[in-house]
Amino acid sequence: MRRASLEWNRRVRRVGFVPTMGALHRGHVSLIERARRENDVVVASIFVNPVQFGPTEDYAKYPRPLAKDAALCRKAGVDVLFLPSAKEMYPPEHDTWVTVERTSGPLCGEFRPGHFRGVATVVLKLFNLVQPTRAYFGLKDYQQVRVVQRMAADLNLPVKIVPCPTVREADGLALSSRNAYLSPDERRAAARVPAALRAAEQVIKSSSGVSVERVRAAAKAELVRIPGAKVQYIEVVDPETLAPLRRVRGEALVALAVYVGKTRLIDNIVVKRRT
Ligand code: AMP
Repeated sequence: MRRASLEWNRRVRRVGFVPTMGALHRGHVSLIERARRENDVVVASIFVNPVQFGPTEDYAKYPRPLAKDAALCRKAGVDVLFLPSAKEMYPPEHDTWVTVERTSGPLCGEFRPGHFRGVATVVLKLFNLVQPTRAYFGLKDYQQVRVVQRMAADLNLPVKIVPCPTVREADGLALSSRNAYLSPDERRAAARVPAALRAAEQVIKSSSGVSVERVRAAAKAELVRIPGAKVQYIEVVDPETLAPLRRVRGEALVALAVYVGKTRLIDNIVVKRRT
């Protein structure tokens, strides 16, 4: 990987990079296609990063359909598919970690301790290996985008982070590799999650300075009606810093995590109030 990236650098090639954990879907493909349009070389990686999973999370059972993923990458225009092993990435002597402190604190960070430390560490390692000009991340994982942007700015990384819109199923459910865990009943229930974000959006747009409590209550009212769903969090925060808001005047990020059965789903929306 290093040899190839040095060669592209020498030849002034623009390298677009799409890091993933595989089990690719149209969300991933949208990132690859954008990278294809904006660069000379497209690198995708598939690496199920052990250090971003908690001890009770789904690392072992995370889907790994490698042949199908490779075919999808080829079709979407990936030039190099990078598949490092966990042993190569984290030899026993590995001892360096990247912590993006404030940005990793709220939302998912509160419920997945160490998750964003694992994400930031692997993303920095992958950036150093691939040396991309641009790297593409989906806004479905909104906090991840902010963590990576903060890390890139704070550590003066020579890479442009490109946030990309969330790709959804026809019924509104955000595409996710973890949707594969849902039974048909759960899948129908999951389709009702985006309604909570729309309810929050409506309340925010109804008047200026609405309290965050009202926004959360509107979203929660939708989620509690979903059979088998258990809310982990619904938060309304500053979209730049992820700091909590008390009232919504300008822009707000509404972000939520909900269990449908045993499957944890996340979704979010950025609401811009017209002033
Ligand atoms: P993952 O394989 O889940 O780690 O995701 C790899 C990249 O694809 C991340 O930047 C995700 O945010 C992005 N991604 C995942 N799902 C979607 C989606 N539904 N729409 C857009 N991007 C996505």
